[in-house]
Amino acid sequence: MFKKILIANRSEIAVRAIRACRELGVKTVAVYSEADRESRHVALADQAVCIGPAPAKLSYLDAEAVLSAAKITGADAVHPGYGFLSENADFAEACRSRGLVFIGPPPEASRKLGYKSSAKAVALEAKVPVVPGTKGLVAGDAAREAAAIGYPVLIKAAAGGGGKGMRVVRQAGELAAQLATAANEAKAAFGDGAVYLEKLLDRPRHVEIQIAADGRGGAVAFPERDCTVQRRHQKLVEESPSPALTPEIRRRMQEAAVRLVKAAGYANVGTVEFLFQDGQFYFIEVNARLQVEHPVTEAVAGVDLMELMIRLAAGEPLPFGQERAGEIRGHSFEHRINAEDPDNGFAPCPGRIETLELPGGAGVRVDTHAYAGYTVPSYYDSLIAKVITFAPDRPSAIRRSLRALGELQVGGIKTTAAFHAKVLSHPVFQKGDFDTHFIETHGLLDSKEPQNA
Ligand code: ADP
Repeated sequence: MFKKILIANRSEIAVRAIRACRELGVKTVAVYSEADRESRHVALADQAVCIGPAPAKLSYLDAEAVLSAAKITGADAVHPGYGFLSENADFAEACRSRGLVFIGPPPEASRKLGYKSSAKAVALEAKVPVVPGTKGLVAGDAAREAAAIGYPVLIKAAAGGGGKGMRVVRQAGELAAQLATAANEAKAAFGDGAVYLEKLLDRPRHVEIQIAADGRGGAVAFPERDCTVQRRHQKLVEESPSPALTPEIRRRMQEAAVRLVKAAGYANVGTVEFLFQDGQFYFIEVNARLQVEHPVTEAVAGVDLMELMIRLAAGEPLPFGQERAGEIRGHSFEHRINAEDPDNGFAPCPGRIETLELPGGAGVRVDTHAYAGYTVPSYYDSLIAKVITFAPDRPSAIRRSLRALGELQVGGIKTTAAFHAKVLSHPVFQKGDFDTHFIETHGLLDSKEPQNA
């Protein structure tokens, strides 16, 4: 096991990683930007190093600054969390060349899977169904390729993430202009304008499979997460298991996910994302990291994924097989509490949290870096807390979530907490029969919100 891990991240995920390290008896080093001096991860870690000014480019995304912090503190491994450098294969390689263990997949595997268009090629080879679309990037006659797929089509950025660089094209006349816009958007967001085309599914669910692999041939799939409740392709509520899957589809999806990661030589934990419609599932991408929504799987499968990823990175084998990994022990929801104003187009609401009352009690977990007196900086994403609930079945988990969200009180800034309660109370949500357009089609957005593309 490692002696000291540097956590190359901030916010709730840094806190989550530090807690796992402490339980494993591993020392921790936090890194922070000048805007995060007062952040909880800084206070919780054994050591903390300021790595630069507030903008992420000058701190959390500055690989050299992170690597120097690891060197001066004598860390032997780096945990990247999510976002920032977590899926950057060059960073993983740089860790390796400086004698540090990167807690995540080997750079060779994340290179294969990190680029969405090449990940689809790996999936096709592994006989995993994919959404129909271009074979690789758009090249040559885009109009002919789009016509062959059939409108409506979706333009997607190969380097994309967080719903950025995605454009719906409903008819041939719009294609050229939308291709140019998407490429510009992708270039600005990811420094890479490459795009590909996919058939637009009209009412999909987003269902994903958490996997873990030990790099010695062992790979398991956990019960699925359903992340269908989205706003502008961004997840809001996640649950496990999905109310839409049969045991047979679940098994086939898990097998497909394991085939795919084995084909890519993947190791450590990761997520294989699918769209699910009319009883069919289609691969869309791999997230080569621990995701925001991992706690619902931890609750339902009874595992500690953060600890598992650290143990796997330290060279330990998988501690269990598929039968144990696939056990479903109940139902779990995660609610992303963002510092945003749902009544004003979900505009970010950074600022000082004056008072904070967190929910608790049986089956309620809160992952947060926030506290009363903490100021949410304006430089980073707006996630301030995750409320995770667990109960024996979906109806009781809904009741538990409503109870927990009712207890949550954040004074001083606006949050999405009440919006989650609105979703949970909706009869269509309670029935479990909805698609990714749920919040727009059921009037959950106020009129100021532009409609989803
Ligand atoms: P990102 O990495 O930017 O989050 P994803 O490929 O994971 O992008 O897709 C995010 C969301 O966009 C999906 O959960 C789904 O709601 C929507 N989406 C992606 N591809 C399609 C498609 N082919 N048809 C319909 N919706 C899609």
